[in-house]
Amino acid sequence: TRTSRPQRILKAVQRKATVGDPQSVITAIDHFCRHREWAMNVGDEKGSILDSVVSEVSPVTVLELGTYCGYSTVRIARLLPPGACVITLEFNPDYAAIARQVIQWSGLEDKVQLVEGASGDWIPWMKEHFGVQAFDLVFLDHWKERYLPDTKLLEECGLIQKGTVLLADNVICPGTPDYLEYVRNSPRYNSHYYRSHLEYTKAEDGLEKSVFLGY
Ligand code: SAM
Ligand code: MG
Repeated sequence: TRTSRPQRILKAVQRKATVGDPQSVITAIDHFCRHREWAMNVGDEKGSILDSVVSEVSPVTVLELGTYCGYSTVRIARLLPPGACVITLEFNPDYAAIARQVIQWSGLEDKVQLVEGASGDWIPWMKEHFGVQAFDLVFLDHWKERYLPDTKLLEECGLIQKGTVLLADNVICPGTPDYLEYVRNSPRYNSHYYRSHLEYTKAEDGLEKSVFLGY
């Protein structure tokens, strides 16, 4: 039977990357996706922008919406200070199973809480279930029509506080016009576009970083 793309990405990791070495996992996935099969990871080019935002924020609690194979989870988790963690949500159980193995191969499982389920169902339970007060950083990279409703839900649930940084991927390609219009025009956010390219291509795409200024 034919394997899935995520299974082939995991195979590439197992063949090329060193257990316990997150950078080798990132390099193996980027190499596979650039030279063999395109996949929807944030990728190396936008990944370096993600890295600088994570380093600058130095977050204790991170929420990632959309895990896929765990590529960006590994990128984020490898930069977290001791005691910090990333909660990552994925509603496709096949992708979640692959991501668990990729995160394990990286040796970062102690910094990652992978949650299977839909963002809209889980966000209201974050405080109760994980004991988080609010997130320092939220990486939005799930289905694009969910960016805006989930941001409003995070606000309503008190999970966004003064200084919380939202970082949204794919704001140009495939694009998230309603979300961009919201964060760019709301007086409660200071928003900035980082121009880059769609993962593993030359097409324009970018990340939008929006800092919550308080109510
Ligand atoms: N962040 C990943 C990376 O850069 O390596 C890529 C994530 S991929 C672009 C988007 C993922 O979000 C898919 O695996 C999809 O199944 C998942 N997803 C989409 N909508 C979701 C939702 N509402 N809740 C949870 N997961 C969702
Ligand atoms: Mg993306």
